[in-house]
Amino acid sequence: FMVSAAPIFDKNGRVQGTTVVFNDITEIKKLEQMRKDFVANVSHELKTPLTSIKGFAETLLDGAQEVPEIREQFLRIIHDESERMQTLVEDLLELSRLEQDNYQLETAIVDVTGLVRETAALLHRRATEKEMTIHIEMEEEVFIRADLNRLKQVVVNLVANALNYTPNGGNVWIQLEDGEEFVQLIIKDDGIGIHPKETQRIFERFYRVDKARSRNSGGTGLGLAIVKHIVDLHHGEIEIASEEHKGTTFTIRLPKHG
Ligand code: ADP
Repeated sequence: FMVSAAPIFDKNGRVQGTTVVFNDITEIKKLEQMRKDFVANVSHELKTPLTSIKGFAETLLDGAQEVPEIREQFLRIIHDESERMQTLVEDLLELSRLEQDNYQLETAIVDVTGLVRETAALLHRRATEKEMTIHIEMEEEVFIRADLNRLKQVVVNLVANALNYTPNGGNVWIQLEDGEEFVQLIIKDDGIGIHPKETQRIFERFYRVDKARSRNSGGTGLGLAIVKHIVDLHHGEIEIASEEHKGTTFTIRLPKHG
């Protein structure tokens, strides 16, 4: 609490009483701390690839470019690290757009089965590289009122995560169920899973169970925060159920009529 007090005077200037104001500042402090943590995280996440880009560029300029194999290898690193920074900045911009008070979804009638098929096609190469199988179970035609591009981000993020956090040879299931009022989308994997202690935190910006693993798979730690925002904007719900070394299931329920 923040407490402020002031005397009350009567018309002769004598102290008659005191007003005391209690302000609950714990919430304000918490928000302020979150903002500071966020800025610190962003700076750190940008600094890491930038240091690497600068270092490799300097080494090339100092003469390493004379050796073709080294030149090739270093330029590859510079390219990949720039790409990481680009993804991070794009995710940050997306997150900040979604967090605007006046953010408007662009809704239309969306064919969810088509969207699921497109996502599977988009991530087919990644699945093949890891010798993984994507199983799709869905009804014929499922339509909802939603923002197609935002919804695509949700499905792509969840399926990409399922592929990233499952060892080679594993499985991903995408199930789509049509209901009266809601559509239910389940994305499930038989991967590394998440400890119960951490499941509620993974929707936080930059929260990652294993930083190195996320980084190696090109993760920014912002994917699930973006997913959560988009589901909320659609007035939907997202739930996670996970067991370590067994796998993870994300269940999303979206109202059909927006
Ligand atoms: P990242 O870019 O790190 O993947 P996300 O916001 O998408 O960021 O996810 C946050 C963290 O949640 C990940 O770093 C990972 O630790 C955990 N996670 C997300 N999806 C899964 C999954 N399907 N299985 C296991 N862990 C997951």
